[in-house]
Amino acid sequence: MSQQTQKSEHLLEVKELRKYYPVRGGFFRKKIGDVKAVDNISLELKRGETFGLVGESGCGKSTAGRTITRLFKPTEGKIFFEGKDITRYRGPRLRNIRKDIQMVFQDPYASLNPKMMVGSIVTEPLINYHGGSERKYKDEVMELLTKVGLPEDAYYKYPHEFSGGQRQRIGIARALALKPKLIVADEPVSALDVSVQSQVLNLLKELQKEFNLTLLFIAHDLSVVKHMSDRIGVMYLGNLVEVADADELYKDPKHPYTRALISAIPQPDPRNKSERIILKGDVPSPQNPPVGCPFHPRCPEAMPECSEKKPQLKGVTEEHRVSCLLYE
Ligand code: SF4
Repeated sequence: MSQQTQKSEHLLEVKELRKYYPVRGGFFRKKIGDVKAVDNISLELKRGETFGLVGESGCGKSTAGRTITRLFKPTEGKIFFEGKDITRYRGPRLRNIRKDIQMVFQDPYASLNPKMMVGSIVTEPLINYHGGSERKYKDEVMELLTKVGLPEDAYYKYPHEFSGGQRQRIGIARALALKPKLIVADEPVSALDVSVQSQVLNLLKELQKEFNLTLLFIAHDLSVVKHMSDRIGVMYLGNLVEVADADELYKDPKHPYTRALISAIPQPDPRNKSERIILKGDVPSPQNPPVGCPFHPRCPEAMPECSEKKPQLKGVTEEHRVSCLLYE
């Protein structure tokens, strides 16, 4: 079968990706609508960079991460990995691409088999993809466990014998076992104590350099995302509303929603008093998103045309894109 390919410096390119879930109702369970969990996102990841995807819970960022890794089937749009269109890959081709794209999940305990020793958990993907027995990979796995900061005897222990931070290290070791090119980390520290969050974040940064990884880092906490990311995309109601370099986004946020999110970050220095922007109302249902700009019912800067026309993500500079009629 011929493959659609496109030349690119990017490891990953996502074009107009949508993920809808049908809503059924009535006696015959007919489709009566869609939950638009991801409603048109386009982004690209350069090799070796960390791209942070941020937004409130329910904005679609986790669904976007799982659709990009092809754990979920996209409804529309394209996903290019190393220039190959992997959107409709199935069977052996999908399995093959999966070893290059791994995920780290929010709840490490739920994603680790409690009946398996840590050594077996980390070795499992190696056996699945390359065959052989546990013994064949023992030295390699031992080395990996040390690299993620676990004690030497971790190999023979079970997940319940570890703390939350250590379990996340096990999850990271398992994700790294196949030497992937891209890691999608979905809220990897939000289930951890604040005291261990920065240790796990720093570990991810170190491993990224050592393994030459590209990272899609998904989180709701803007200060965590800033610490990790080279570039950031802000999501609202299934849409990407702003994309910029991390420093630029914090210094000069353009979208009213990004401005509100940034104004809510606590300032370590009390002399830096910036006024917090309080948004009215709640995030609308993705089953029934507002017509026009999806943010208009809550936007402090909404204009009459915002309830009619949906803005597109456009560049205000080459590297800074925003989806807002104020800039069109
Ligand atoms: Fe606010 Fe209008 Fe911009 Fe939407 S398009 S963010 S409603 S100003």
